[in-house]
Amino acid sequence: MNILSALRTKPSAESQKVSKQSAPKQTKGIEIKSQRELDYMRESSRIVATVLKEISELIAPGMTTMDLDAHAEKRIREMGAVPSFKGYCGFPASICSSINNEVVHGIPNSRKVIKLGDLVKVDTGAFKNGFHGDSCITVAVGNVSEKAAKLMRVAEEALYKGIEQVKPGNCMLDLAGAIEDHVKANGFAIVEDFTGHGVGRNLHEEPSVFNFRTHQLPNVRFRPGMTLAIEPILNAGSKRVRILADKWTAVTVDNQLSAQFEHTVLVTETGYEIFTDRNKV
Ligand code: MG
Ligand code: MG
Repeated sequence: MNILSALRTKPSAESQKVSKQSAPKQTKGIEIKSQRELDYMRESSRIVATVLKEISELIAPGMTTMDLDAHAEKRIREMGAVPSFKGYCGFPASICSSINNEVVHGIPNSRKVIKLGDLVKVDTGAFKNGFHGDSCITVAVGNVSEKAAKLMRVAEEALYKGIEQVKPGNCMLDLAGAIEDHVKANGFAIVEDFTGHGVGRNLHEEPSVFNFRTHQLPNVRFRPGMTLAIEPILNAGSKRVRILADKWTAVTVDNQLSAQFEHTVLVTETGYEIFTDRNKV
């Protein structure tokens, strides 16, 4: 079992309080959100986008990952939401902060100082009115190597290649294939140990949103009202990761760089809407 599947099985107490308002409309275990629920998700996602935009602007050498976490928690609460991650399966913070060879789920730390040339992944979620938003960015701190810049660019492009496949009638494998093809054409590896997910009432819900072609997971057909967190993770070297002794932080096995971008996305009648779009906040 990977960390993501562990996370999916144990929603936090704080998230559960408001999450059982009414029986959701479902198709094969995948919740189809109502217009009102989608408005709630837009609001939670807007909060997430605002926080990530602010962090991308304030991040600087000499700050610690705990400084970023403190800013995120303060702003999420100021906007009337609760940090989705804090307390989730015991995760101690409001953001995951993963630097350079750290892949995902890095724990903010007051001794972890950000340096010039770092690639910093910041992932956060906000919970308000019973619904979550979830998004991740990779930020280059000052000038980074050409390879790091390319990895970051291709990771974001891969996310958008996947998002472009989101429309009624298309399937998860269309999305997965578009991501896989773009990443491979650029010579990078896709981490297979973590997938994206449905998002809404729960931070992690059905379906799995995978980033590579596989028949191990259901090839769900997109329907209007589905809400997905799409989040490809790219490694510069091997796709393989290992988990550190803190039981959270995943790092690349060969110490090479990793980059990730994530958006919360709605399947609309004609295509998609990106809920966590930082250009709209
Ligand atoms: Mg996330
Ligand atoms: Mg996610």
